[in-house]
Amino acid sequence: GLSVSKDFDFFYFVQQWPGSYCDTQQSCCYPTTGKPAPDFGVHGLWPNYNDGTYPSNCDSSNPFDQSKVSDLISKMQKDWPTLACPSGDGVTFWSHEWDKHGTCSEDVLDQHSYFSKALALKTQTNLLQALTTAGIEANGGSYSLSSIKSAIQSGVGYTPFVECNSDESGNSQLYQVYLCVDNSGSKLIECPVFPNGKCGSQIEFPSF
Ligand code: 5GP
Ligand code: 5GP
Ligand code: 5GP
Repeated sequence: GLSVSKDFDFFYFVQQWPGSYCDTQQSCCYPTTGKPAPDFGVHGLWPNYNDGTYPSNCDSSNPFDQSKVSDLISKMQKDWPTLACPSGDGVTFWSHEWDKHGTCSEDVLDQHSYFSKALALKTQTNLLQALTTAGIEANGGSYSLSSIKSAIQSGVGYTPFVECNSDESGNSQLYQVYLCVDNSGSKLIECPVFPNGKCGSQIEFPSF
């Protein structure tokens, strides 16, 4: 039509703590490239609508193509490692993220831009630094949800959403951190809407 269609409203930029992905009943598998560093890793950059719903798998004619990101692979292995079983080199995880989420923002971020933008956001946000600066360390200790959110807000400049999962004993732990990015993929913004999900008021930050 004559009007410009608006495909989505903003992105969630989601990072995962590997210690919490692994420290569950389901466990994890290290990538074939070796155990990742004890740092947050990228999960994905997810187009979303302001009402909390989101598009997915938008263009099957534009599948993940490793040759389009060959210059980024070593950084993706380091900063976007897969921890799912069986062990893999990451291609299955990156393909899934591109096919499910990336194709829904392909008009603003092509494949190379999608991955390079996410890697840049990981470096820019430096979650581990923000937490460490506030004395919040991945040592199995328990911290209040509000102190974790404040530390990230202070370090990054924007309010995060914290997603928890449960360790083998059922304790709530810091699993993923959501930040929001405008729909051109150019800058962090305050989240228009937060996902659902409950953490305890005190949550563990396991080592990795
Ligand atoms: P889960 O059900 O484990 O929370 O999420 C499963 C998958 O659904 C996520 O890895 C992600 O691909 C997608 N997903 C879950 N919640 C959201 C959301 O709020 N926004 C978007 N864009 N995707 C989501
Ligand atoms: P989502 O749909 O939740 O964005 O993506 C999760 C999918 O990616 C699942 O199929 C999951 O098995 C796979 N996956 C592979 N590696 C990882 C990982 O390190 N973390 C998470 N959360 N999912 C992974
Ligand atoms: P408030 O917005 O008043 O701080 O919190 C309202 C409710 O949302 C409380 O139950 C609080 O624990 C929960 N909540 C606030 N921020 C987060 C967050 O980042 N993650 C999760 N899972 N719950 C949150």
